[in-house]
Amino acid sequence: MKYFAVVGNPIHHSISPRLHNNAFLALKEQSVYSRLLLPLDISASEFKERILALGLSGVNVTVPFKEIALSASDEIDEFAAGIGSVNTIILKNGKLCAFNTDAPGFMMAIADFKGIKNALILGAGGTARALSVALSKSGVSISILNRSASRAGVFGDYDFYTPDTFKTSAKYDIVVNTTPAGLSFDGLPFSLELLEPAMSGAKYAFDAVYGRKTAFIDLAQSRGLECRDGLLMLLYQAVLAFDIFSEKKYDLKDIEKYMSEALRLKF
Ligand code: NDP
Repeated sequence: MKYFAVVGNPIHHSISPRLHNNAFLALKEQSVYSRLLLPLDISASEFKERILALGLSGVNVTVPFKEIALSASDEIDEFAAGIGSVNTIILKNGKLCAFNTDAPGFMMAIADFKGIKNALILGAGGTARALSVALSKSGVSISILNRSASRAGVFGDYDFYTPDTFKTSAKYDIVVNTTPAGLSFDGLPFSLELLEPAMSGAKYAFDAVYGRKTAFIDLAQSRGLECRDGLLMLLYQAVLAFDIFSEKKYDLKDIEKYMSEALRLKF
């Protein structure tokens, strides 16, 4: 039997165990997936020790440990290292090997959104970094709007704005929310005076938050944008993580099928 877990704080809300366990069961893998709450002040070395001590074969990492997980890892996939954020780890000979499946999961979630040339990303955390790298690799021009300038340096050549410097005349094809607006607090991530002009002319809105209708999605819908929440991104990052966890290579469509089935299960 192999053991996997999602680590985070808080973690009780995570539906990752549902997705992975249903796929393990359907594919007859001798594996089980659980949730693990880690202390907020855990160091990178304690993070690694905890995973080794529990005999886990792999973990998914969620808020706020995606950067600590990067420091704790022994081998980092080139793409995850470029992003600076890790959400999937497997253990090989006592070594933590790290990957990022959030970025490709996001691209799969918006695969039917066509003609995106300019994107405005709200927020500048680990998710914003992952999504901006993924979009940029597809030739999309990136602008970031964040409440503070503290993380501007991480975004290199991208246009980086705070509410004070944001140009309301610029036009975007997609507006993506990666702030916790709608999750840890109600309301919009930025004022209506900033968001309305940013959405005017945009075709699409994407919110990384899932499982609830956020004020951001409400606003985008009322302005006629095609909207999507973070559920499909969650599904696809899990499908790609499962593919990394499993020694057998399955068709990704099969993993997706069993994980989608789990999304419809009622508890
Ligand atoms: P981080 O904590 O790394 O970043 C959060 C960002 O939001 C920061 O830039 C922060 O600004 C900004 N922010 C925080 N509070 C506010 C506020 N009150 N008003 C405006 N901006 C704010 O988080 P992550 O990037 O890891 O995650 C972000 C969101 O994405 C979470 O809601 C998470 O659940 C979701 N997510 C969804 C996934 C999915 O599969 N659907 C996958 C991964 C994440 P500052 O820099 O000034 O602190």
